[in-house]
Amino acid sequence: MQLRVTAEQAATLRDHLIRDDRRERAGFLLAAESGEGLVTAETRPLNEDDMAVTENTACRPRPEVEQDVLRYCDSNDLHPVMVHSHPFTATAGFSQRDDRIMDRMTGYVNGLYPGMGVGFVVTATEETVFRWFPPADTGHEPVDGSITVIGDWLQPDTGLFRTPDHGPGDADGLDRDRFDRSIRCLGEDGQHRLAHTHVVVAGAGGLGSHITEQLARIGVGELTAVDPDVVEPSNLPRIAGAAPHHVGRPKPDVIREAVYRANPDTAFTEIQGRIQDHTSRIAAADLVVSTIDNATAKSTLNQDCVRHLTPFVDAGSRIDTERKGNGPEITAIKGLMQLVAPGVTAWFDCYGRGNTEQARIDDMTGDELDEEISQGYVDADVADSQPAITAINTAIAGATLQTVLKLVTRYTAPSALIRYDGLADDISGSQTIPNPSCVTCGPDGVLGLGESAPDPELDQSFDADAPSPFQTARVWKHWMDNAVLHALHSTHD
Ligand SMILES: [Zn+2]
Repeated sequence: MQLRVTAEQAATLRDHLIRDDRRERAGFLLAAESGEGLVTAETRPLNEDDMAVTENTACRPRPEVEQDVLRYCDSNDLHPVMVHSHPFTATAGFSQRDDRIMDRMTGYVNGLYPGMGVGFVVTATEETVFRWFPPADTGHEPVDGSITVIGDWLQPDTGLFRTPDHGPGDADGLDRDRFDRSIRCLGEDGQHRLAHTHVVVAGAGGLGSHITEQLARIGVGELTAVDPDVVEPSNLPRIAGAAPHHVGRPKPDVIREAVYRANPDTAFTEIQGRIQDHTSRIAAADLVVSTIDNATAKSTLNQDCVRHLTPFVDAGSRIDTERKGNGPEITAIKGLMQLVAPGVTAWFDCYGRGNTEQARIDDMTGDELDEEISQGYVDADVADSQPAITAINTAIAGATLQTVLKLVTRYTAPSALIRYDGLADDISGSQTIPNPSCVTCGPDGVLGLGESAPDPELDQSFDADAPSPFQTARVWKHWMDNAVLHALHSTHD
């Protein structure tokens, strides 16, 4: 059982729980179900007034406080996770008194709220333990779980509020010959983390196929490729592993073969469909990489990742051309990678600038689009295929892969934003910060709400007469330009 918390939620509780006076303190995480795991919707630090007992060896909230939390959880589809500190020791474990308190509280909850589970966390100065008592009506036994801190690179005390890395357990499963060169820099620990990571890649085209193939090659243990399209002849120069006989076959099918050749030990799932129809894969993933340029899909994916506290990397590139003489002239080659660690780094929604015009265009049928073009509402080149070349795709793929490596093996903090200028041969990284009043990741949003959030509703109420910041046709260009602009406004390094 995995429980996800954001770096900020973890820091709030840690600051409250571990203090110099070395007294035990307590608080609640209010957790929502997310796939097979749990995500943190809210934190509730408890004050002295809330406590019946606070001693050096035990602490317990007053019954009224507990009941209040349970009622709140019941009406909001949440599960209480009681956290208390053992600030006098480095290693964490449940004491006999803790066991008795857990017995009493789970007995009480099981009787009153059979659909509610209860978690218990003990956090010491250097590690944390987590035990989960599933809802009575599931009939499941208690299990020890792990806690994952989203954005843990922002925590100065990296060892804090993190369960010991049980990892794979058997270091013998590692193919040391195959991964010799990467173990020399990432260490066996880093290689193990990769082997126990599940990445979902949305889009299996010129960018997504290379990212997926290389994730397998570097030893990522589980991959899911999602794409609704089939291979066309014009895709062959860019899709990793594609051959002429693949034309007409689903793109994820081609990736399956490429992944198998790159690393037969990688567990691979292919989905011929749209990522927004497969939320359960997002909840189950350690990381989602998006290479799609459909604005509605991007927006929905962002909401789903924020709900399930799943880090999300969005990558794309574009080549701008102008007609000159007999042929095109390249005027810009731009790539962009954004890392959205929910609650930790920013995305478009943080600036109130979802790309509604592209979303509107994406949702049109071919006939509707033709009609809009003929009436001049949409420029004709929106319907045109955009220029693309594999050299640019693989440059962005490389930057994206390195971000994944940093996130998984933790050799350094990842950038939240990487910009690539292919004309100037320039690549640069920077950080972003979320907007505290963001509609998606702010207090009224869906951060950490998991399955207890209402289904994210796409904005179907587009008003065609409303002024749009994106009036010209090159919507993808504007999407990217705005991303850079807004990310720069929030840069804090
Ligand atoms: Zn936001």
